[in-house]
Amino acid sequence: VDKVPNLAGLARTCEIFRAERLVVGDLECTRDPEFESISVTAEKHLPMQEVPPADLVPWLESMRLRGYALLGLEQTATSRTLVGFPFPRKCVLVLGREREGIDPGVLEVLDATVEIPQLGLLRSLNVHVSGAICVYEYVRSGAEGARGD
Ligand code: SAH
Repeated sequence: VDKVPNLAGLARTCEIFRAERLVVGDLECTRDPEFESISVTAEKHLPMQEVPPADLVPWLESMRLRGYALLGLEQTATSRTLVGFPFPRKCVLVLGREREGIDPGVLEVLDATVEIPQLGLLRSLNVHVSGAICVYEYVRSGAEGARGD
């Protein structure tokens, strides 16, 4: 995800729901004035980490070794519905690019993909909106509490 409004919105959502951290491809985005106006200082309270796209797969594998389930938010033939999804307490949620979605090489290493059921005609939701819906469902499911471990 590289669009500043999406990243800033995700930072705000992650801070509000106390995500352990937000991982982005390039931390430079936080210095953009547009980021600051949308995130309303979320980045000052939320740990953020940079993992360049080329390092994402090894980073995900290192998180699996630390006990995190690797989940993708994506519409795929094998995605499970978000409704009632049994979130593990410790999970990494991978979001995809605006047109291409999650890279096939990244999809391959994930434990599961989760899909938000849609009713209308358009193909997909905005990535921040999708992430926010999913993080809210995670919190609502009562799985939160990993922060600080
Ligand atoms: N795969 C989409 C484009 C990506 S939309 C397409 O073929 O048009 C950007 C990102 O938002 C996706 O990669 C995914 O992470 C998320 N997303 C959008 N709608 C979604 C849905 N209904 N369920 C799960 N994730 C969704």
